[in-house]
Amino acid sequence: MEPLVLDSKTRLLVLTGAGVSAESGVPTFRGMNGLWENHPVEAVASPQGFEANPGLVWRFYSQRRAGAADVKPNPGHDALVRWEEHLGDRFLLATQNVDGLHTKAGSRRVVDMHGNLFRTKCADCQRAPFADTSVHPSGTVPKCDSCGGRLRPDIVWFGEMLDPNDLARIGEFISRKDGTRLVFLAAGTSGAVWPAAGIVDEVRSVRGDTWLVNYESAANTERFHHFVQGMSGQVLPTLAKLV
Ligand SMILES: [Zn+2]
Repeated sequence: MEPLVLDSKTRLLVLTGAGVSAESGVPTFRGMNGLWENHPVEAVASPQGFEANPGLVWRFYSQRRAGAADVKPNPGHDALVRWEEHLGDRFLLATQNVDGLHTKAGSRRVVDMHGNLFRTKCADCQRAPFADTSVHPSGTVPKCDSCGGRLRPDIVWFGEMLDPNDLARIGEFISRKDGTRLVFLAAGTSGAVWPAAGIVDEVRSVRGDTWLVNYESAANTERFHHFVQGMSGQVLPTLAKLV
């Protein structure tokens, strides 16, 4: 297999999706068949669901916080840490996962595109999101110290926009002109859905190299220059040649 060469002339953008977390045992919406305790996932992961029943939403996220405390990064997460140590500022990791496993593994240059399970913000005022590992008793909704309103998980829910600052950080990395060649690698996500599908086209438009590492092939697999079929925890540790 052709190696992913990471040398001093390379900058690497990685996008990780649910597959990378699933390999650590994190439950995914897809694995749950769209249901949590017989509630459609939209009931616990959308602004409408929060308005209708914030206590249910907090029960769901409290359960996920408690569960995530026990899961560990896998060899795929660890490989990305080594790549970042090698590349420094020529590395950026965008993740769709909210479980914080990349940070737990030791990754530093992380864009949490879909938010972070261990951050909380206020639904009713503009205070900055803050780190929070609290698990709340069933049916309770934590209150904001600043305004007395309802706190909510700092997660990008169905129907919500991604943070423009996060998208700008990824866009700047793609368009950076420092003489390095751009490589994009998507892992544990279908290459055919947004944002992977959009990023691969954007990277190709600046003549970047593109890789997809996923258990399944996708409708647009041919849009990637390289496709490695397999689990990221098995593929990533031996994929790169650090020079
Ligand atoms: Zn508030």
